Amino acid sequence: MSIAIIYPNRDVSAWVAALKAHDPTLTVEVWPEISDPGRVEYVLCWNHPEGVLQDFPHLKCISSLGAGVNHLLNDATCPPDIPLVRLVDTGLKQSMAEYVMLGILEHLRRVPEYRLQQQRGEWIPQPVPPISTVGVGLMGCGEIGRYVADKLTAFGFTVHGWSRRPQQVLGVNMFAGQDRLGAFLANADILVCLLPLTAETHGILNAKTFRRLPRRAYLINAARGAHLVDADLLAAVDSGHLSGALLDVFREEPLPKEHPFWAHARITITPHIASVTNPRSAALQVVENYHRAVQGQRLSNRVDRLQGY
Ligand code: NDP
Repeated sequence: MSIAIIYPNRDVSAWVAALKAHDPTLTVEVWPEISDPGRVEYVLCWNHPEGVLQDFPHLKCISSLGAGVNHLLNDATCPPDIPLVRLVDTGLKQSMAEYVMLGILEHLRRVPEYRLQQQRGEWIPQPVPPISTVGVGLMGCGEIGRYVADKLTAFGFTVHGWSRRPQQVLGVNMFAGQDRLGAFLANADILVCLLPLTAETHGILNAKTFRRLPRRAYLINAARGAHLVDADLLAAVDSGHLSGALLDVFREEPLPKEHPFWAHARITITPHIASVTNPRSAALQVVENYHRAVQGQRLSNRVDRLQGY
């Protein structure tokens, strides 16, 4: 019996080593070199080719290789009766907190402007708002959002959170549901999207959402490209209503060369690196879930297929 890793065109030797370090008896195979698909009981995958998940007749669990699962739920050929799990990992949360903090501080401390001033040989100090007066709005207060909120509140920001169901998060002013979205947005000088991509959240970063933000608000999207309506962001930034954006994820990745985001002075792009799963910190939960799946036990970090996350 075996685990198959499906991560096309990537070197997954670190994953194989990390899994075997936790259980040397495991058989770990790397797609497409699967010796016997009938022996595969657990698949760990990212960017898998559609249809490939149907090749394993004795599958007991499918795991995303990251926190998101939209790549699996969007694949109509993903076997509907096999449980889906995802990764919940402290390394992933920490890395996202670093990215969000970097984006916020770069924006507040006007680093892009100073870079331009440096090129022009200009010495023009810019004003800095006290951090406690800056409202950061976190769309999505799940595993990653709550961790990020914790770091931001510890740093002194006023943090507002938005989730689907009502919940309490220490030190965070929480809002829940569509009815409270407007009140949440009105507080967000900096809006950070950490939502899963679902039918409800698709395109949520749109003109209507931007209009409800304070004037000169800043956007950080580190969730999924399809949360954002690109043209609406360009219009909001060009009109001056939004002051700019930091984007890590895009509808098409890599971002096509002709896309206007590349050359926009107030939009910073990064190549989907906000938080990348580290096999060394994430492998143990995979091994544990593999054994649970094989023994028919309750799985950790199970995905609710109906809700889409
Ligand atoms: P979780 O499932 O733990 O949390 C999701 C959060 O979003 C929850 O608070 C949930 O609300 C909220 N939510 C879901 N649907 C809605 C809705 N319709 N309205 C309001 N709130 C909603 O996910 P994670 O925190 O682990 O990850 C979040 C996302 O971050 C991933 O799906 C992935 O897309 C992205 N990501 C991006 C990375 C990158 O490198 N760019 C790296 C890692 C993750 P509730 O609490 O009520 O359920």
